[in-house]
Amino acid sequence: MAATAPASAPVATTWAIELDGVSHRYGSSRALIDLDLSVPWDQRVAILGPNGAGKTTLLRILATLVRPTAGRAIIGGLTLPAQAAAVRRHVGFLAHQTFLYDELTARENLVFYGRLYGVKDPAHRADTLLDLVGLAHRANTRTRTLSRGLQQRLALARAIIHDPAILLLDEPETGLDLAGAGLLDRLMVDDAGRPRTVLLTTHNLERALDIAHRVVVLVQGRLALDRPVAATSARELSAVIRGEREAW
Ligand code: ATP
Repeated sequence: MAATAPASAPVATTWAIELDGVSHRYGSSRALIDLDLSVPWDQRVAILGPNGAGKTTLLRILATLVRPTAGRAIIGGLTLPAQAAAVRRHVGFLAHQTFLYDELTARENLVFYGRLYGVKDPAHRADTLLDLVGLAHRANTRTRTLSRGLQQRLALARAIIHDPAILLLDEPETGLDLAGAGLLDRLMVDDAGRPRTVLLTTHNLERALDIAHRVVVLVQGRLALDRPVAATSARELSAVIRGEREAW
């Protein structure tokens, strides 16, 4: 696996993501506790853990939507929160919310986001992505009338509108049919066919082992396991997630 920064990277660093002692509190509740994590370029990392473990909070920090309450976060060599605006140009985020405008059509949503990100030809980009996610025939449908899974496909297109080198996917398979799940594999590379650095959360252990190079388990906001996929199994992951095995 190449660990060199992609040509589009803001800084030629070895690491796409570096977290050093990152913590996050919501009031008195601790969602992430002293997390260290370094992800090289091109690596795909599955973030696993029980409900409430801090997975979404971690992705929201990396997407610059939430500020860590302690620690240091560097994305593509840029430091958060000071360089958050620059980080957003290199990061795509698929969240639980679609961030789509209900009253706009599928195509209008993508053109809108294309303009927002300064994409060169937003209309052409929108058509390319509608085709990629299998929505070309629904381009002019108002978004609120699209089914849940079709909205998820459109949200995936929105997440890569600016061809980001780093992709953050929070339970991306929610609502997708089998073909939609296969579509995720195509999002793992950028427009030039270069692998993206991907962090994705899922509760599907087999799928995580299938997609990712590395698995990270969070339990109650702490790192409980960090392993190459080749060195673990669904059984081990399940035991750590259920708290049946000591964290390390
Ligand atoms: P799930 O698998 O259920 O999606 P998760 O691992 O993504 O869970 P988070 O959503 O990151 O977990 O939540 C971590 C903790 O932070 C939980 O205890 C949750 O209740 C709390 N939390 C998350 N968002 C907020 C918020 N906006 N305000 C207060 N507490 C929050």
